[in-house]
Amino acid sequence: MLIDSHCHLSHNDYENVLDIINNMKDNIMIVSGADYESNIDVVDLCKRYDNIYGVLGIHPTEITDNIEEHLKYIEEHINDKHIVGIGEIGLDYHYECNKDLQKEIFIRQIKLALKYQKPIVIHTRDAIQDTYDILNSENAYQVNVTIHCFSESLEMAKLFIKKGAKLGIGGIVTFKNAKKTVDVVQNIDLKHILLETDSPYLAPEPLRGTKNEPKNVYLVAKKIAEIKNMDIADVIEITTSNSKTQFDLK
Ligand SMILES: [Zn+2]
Repeated sequence: MLIDSHCHLSHNDYENVLDIINNMKDNIMIVSGADYESNIDVVDLCKRYDNIYGVLGIHPTEITDNIEEHLKYIEEHINDKHIVGIGEIGLDYHYECNKDLQKEIFIRQIKLALKYQKPIVIHTRDAIQDTYDILNSENAYQVNVTIHCFSESLEMAKLFIKKGAKLGIGGIVTFKNAKKTVDVVQNIDLKHILLETDSPYLAPEPLRGTKNEPKNVYLVAKKIAEIKNMDIADVIEITTSNSKTQFDLK
């Protein structure tokens, strides 16, 4: 059994979500919220499917004027069926943005996770140092922390692992120019790694450029097996167990 530890399945992401879910029969998906609408979809999907779990959160680039209402929604549903964490939350400085506001909303969502003792899923882009510092200063590692779509240096990977974080590895590791991520996978024990797709984004090779879907998590497992010179069955078994522990899946 495979677990896609991070994907998006809102009705905005796919024309026919049912097909996508059917393709993952006997496997598990952890669906991530990013804004108000997708959080509502996550709550709904978690109610309807035994093999779908979800995390709720406001992505740093999705902070809107009605943020208070959004945060309230997340708190109201944090103990719903199959809701297993807060995410994806974090910092994204890639485009011009209000860094102070991003930090404030990031911190408030960390506090929410700590209050309810729920795992956190982190998005970080061009903001790794601030992300690292805030997780430390907020004592975020009292709950399980996943750095989703990890694509930073090996040095940074080691720092996060030392804190107890897990690294989500997705389609990027299959890309030709992914030296950094390959380096991380090569040198980090598999017990620190979760498989993910970040569907509908970042389809792995040989499907790069197409719309990604959770079943392609198999291609990520295959690539990791290749890099680590392991049996793919072992890669799947270990990473599935990692995700189950990380999100306390029953
Ligand atoms: Zn995502």
